[in-house]
Amino acid sequence: MNLELSEEQEDVRRLAEDFVAREVAPHVVAWDRAENVDRSIVKKLGSVGFLGLTVPEEYGGSGGDHLTYCLVTEELGRGDSSVRGIVSVSLGLVAKTIAAWGDEAQKRHWLPGLTAGEAIGCFGLTEPGTGSDAGNLATKAVRDGGDYVINGSKMFITNGTWADVVLLFARTNDTPGHKGISAFLVPTDAPGLGRRTIHGKLGLRGQATAEVVLEDVRVPASALMGPEGKGFSIAMSALAKGRMSVAAGCVGIAQAALDAAVGYAGEREQFGRPIAGHQLVQELISDIAVDVDAARLLTWRVADLVDRREEFATAASKAKLFASEAAVRAANNALQVFGGYGYIDEYPVGKLLRDARVMTLYEGTSQIQKLIIGRALTGVSAF
Ligand SMILES: Cc1cc2nc3c(=O)[nH]c(=O)nc-3n(C[C@H](O)[C@H](O)[C@H](O)COP(=O)(O)OP(=O)(O)OC[C@H]3O[C@@H](n4cnc5c(N)ncnc54)[C@H](O)[C@@H]3O)c2cc1C
Repeated sequence: MNLELSEEQEDVRRLAEDFVAREVAPHVVAWDRAENVDRSIVKKLGSVGFLGLTVPEEYGGSGGDHLTYCLVTEELGRGDSSVRGIVSVSLGLVAKTIAAWGDEAQKRHWLPGLTAGEAIGCFGLTEPGTGSDAGNLATKAVRDGGDYVINGSKMFITNGTWADVVLLFARTNDTPGHKGISAFLVPTDAPGLGRRTIHGKLGLRGQATAEVVLEDVRVPASALMGPEGKGFSIAMSALAKGRMSVAAGCVGIAQAALDAAVGYAGEREQFGRPIAGHQLVQELISDIAVDVDAARLLTWRVADLVDRREEFATAASKAKLFASEAAVRAANNALQVFGGYGYIDEYPVGKLLRDARVMTLYEGTSQIQKLIIGRALTGVSAF
């Protein structure tokens, strides 16, 4: 097995690294304090092709394989998880899902704008009353002539206030559980669709997270994506690939924690020598390094499986579970290396820890990943 990147993959990785150094790193602290990433970043991400990775070029995408997508996601996560999340959701959960499940008209209508960064997508699955138990969601879409009329609300929606389109999951019949759920592409300027920014997040402060409320929102039947009743399968297939993207972002966080810890340990002196020379500090740093390598290898394995069109969902759950927990550990260890300075936001590690913390929660909590992995191993569902 060859774990070396091809020249093309390495070029794109370096492009992402340079992009972060130029367009993201100088603003990270200010965006975090202001609770607002500058929205112009979306156009910039689009113009370098990062919002079109793996999407076919005929729909405006920049093509490429999933390992390249993970490399870019890692570099963005290393720079700022709020920016990484914009890509993971607008491209990873929305555009890629439209490319996989949309009809020709839906692909032609939405993909060129989403991949160019002229439009933004958000993914509307979670509701105030249903998170892990998404199959019991309550939002309803009722057929009315040639339209559907949608009522309900969606919670914690990344890109929610910025988005032009919601990939929305709603119940289209009274069958309980996941069988009655369908997927819709709902423009956010549809009358009756309201959005409220959620402030006060522990991390990902720069990201536009919102509650989306739908009151008698009318969409034409052509907004239905995929067959009626297939919405839950569509959501789960999107999330399986999404977990690979979250895992890659977590590798970026852990790598940033490692870089920061090594750099600081070499400069900071206590007891007459750099703290890097103290064995217990080396232990903290080596623990971070092992987490980085293990998380990256698990993530690359998922990308490889996806690119070879093999079953990847369980591997994605393993990668997401390990990488998200590893990112929290790594950022926490790095903060320890920084001592008291790590607790102040002029230094990067506190933000890494705050941003990492949500990774074990969204796109399926760590507990849910364990149930998915357990089900695959035993053949018994504990849901
Ligand atoms: C910043 C942020 C951004 C988000 N972005 C999006 C987005 O763009 N789109 C979207 O649709 N959602 C989004 N989410 C929602 C996210 O996916 C949910 O928060 C997550 O799925 C967990 O759901 P919950 O918060 O309702 O927790 P709950 O499901 O209520 O879980 C609470 C606790 O119970 C545990 N638990 C639940 N069921 C079980 C079980 N069967 N066995 C063992 N333990 C269990 C959980 O692991 C957790 O520890 C986002 C959330 C956040 C915080």
